[in-house]
Amino acid sequence: MKYIFVTGGVVSSLGKGLAAAALGTLLERRGLRVLMQKFDPYLNVDPGTMNPFQHGEVYVLSDGAETDLDLGHYERFTSCRLTRNNNLTSGQVYATVLAKERRGDYLGNTVQVIPHITDEIKARIKTASLEPVDVIITEIGGTTGDIEGLPFLEAIRQFQLGAGMRNVVIMHVTLVPFIKAAGELKTKPTQQSVAKLREIGLQPHVLVCRTEHPLEYEVRQKLSLYCNVPVQAVVEARDVDHTIYEAPLMLQGEKLDETICTLLDLDLPPADMSGWRRFVQKVINPKKRVRVAIVGKYVELQDAYKSIYESLTHAGAANDCGIDLMKVDAEEIEDSPTSAERLLGGVVGILVPGGFGDRGIEGKIIAAKFARENKIPYLGLCLGMQVASIEFARNACGLAGANSTEFDPDTPHPVIALLQEQSNVTELGASMRLGCWPALIKPGTISHSLYGREEIVERHRHRYEFNMAYRQQMEDRGFVISGTSLDGELVEIIELRGHPWFVACQFHPEFQSKPNQPHPLFKGFIAACLAHEAD
Ligand code: GLN
Repeated sequence: MKYIFVTGGVVSSLGKGLAAAALGTLLERRGLRVLMQKFDPYLNVDPGTMNPFQHGEVYVLSDGAETDLDLGHYERFTSCRLTRNNNLTSGQVYATVLAKERRGDYLGNTVQVIPHITDEIKARIKTASLEPVDVIITEIGGTTGDIEGLPFLEAIRQFQLGAGMRNVVIMHVTLVPFIKAAGELKTKPTQQSVAKLREIGLQPHVLVCRTEHPLEYEVRQKLSLYCNVPVQAVVEARDVDHTIYEAPLMLQGEKLDETICTLLDLDLPPADMSGWRRFVQKVINPKKRVRVAIVGKYVELQDAYKSIYESLTHAGAANDCGIDLMKVDAEEIEDSPTSAERLLGGVVGILVPGGFGDRGIEGKIIAAKFARENKIPYLGLCLGMQVASIEFARNACGLAGANSTEFDPDTPHPVIALLQEQSNVTELGASMRLGCWPALIKPGTISHSLYGREEIVERHRHRYEFNMAYRQQMEDRGFVISGTSLDGELVEIIELRGHPWFVACQFHPEFQSKPNQPHPLFKGFIAACLAHEAD
């Protein structure tokens, strides 16, 4: 088994996760079975409790683990199947060690960071994979020099000792800034971050240098000399021009995968990137473009809807279509009766993403109404399905004040509610429905034509459900329940009769879309936007 550890230097937000994922793409295409994982030094047990301002998107795995958004990159860039084992936080490590301590497992010993915390981390490196793999790529969150990251780096140092020389590679992703006044790329920050690593006993084997300008040979030589890394292992990682999916191609051009294979004693044929390259070409050179709005409350944040943006890119490429995404703040739609027309007037598709809490809810409901009445393609994701249901109940079924009990506990018409609040269900428990759940698709619906089958499995992250007590009266008015749980009790997908393309789901399809394997709902949505444009 081979191990690659990815560390970060100088500053955060260097795209370390992306570099790790791109390396995963290349190694998979050399024929290796790859597993990717992330170690996060913060004390939260998982990012599920952090808000999007803190953390960006919470990425949900099929087993229901709420994880760092870098795991989304890993799943999109490789075919590895991730589990809750693959996002380890300091919080988890300490929780495990403290539980053992309370059980008396340490037999009277003093419990310490070294060896008890580091042993726990090392054990997790070994048990990362449920299936046999050839390489495990582990990304360490944070920046070298952070106090929080030290136990992880120390664990890697110890791990390397046991694993043997040609079995471990440390790849350090670092910044080589360009100083305008001097007209020069500067190597000092990288030198210093490598010095920090060496101080704790880690010598990087490869430097991936994030830079806005080409790394000239002299700069590479200097980095090589001062950082003690062979010059061919100093890799330029320039900002990509158009799309993050160019990253593997760029790193292949820099022979990153070749260098790493040599370091790990792996003699493998080059990676065949032809399919990937075709996908990138489609993203870069679309034949046409459509204007789509996303109506959310975190639209100003780059990372809050990451998987949705990526899914739109995949779906666009599959339709030979570029997407001009208008990010509309749901609260702005609430401003005045004409705001919807002003903000959504020119778009050929409206997407309402998931969310928690009542901020912006009325704006999202207006957006759903605008899409329904103007026959604009609508894709609702999780909360996006709930607001569409509320809107239909209020405005098409005359159920004034209809709402979700999440936003109005005293609503006269709780069309969305916790299961135990619904009169037809006696089951208790309001915990989150998380991870993969199967669903049945109704033949003859748009959903069925998109999926092309009757049983699907999709990832969930929500508490509230459509209230089946309202099913009949809403169906009588053209509400279509096109997907349900296997027992028929829970609504999974809805559509609207008489609308060209109005599809909303209780789950999160964005967690299962990949380049060259777009999610059927996203692909169908963009196709519908194109059709609407042609109308
Ligand atoms: N807040 C809603 C619920 O908990 C929707 C959640 C979501 O969109 N992920 O059911």
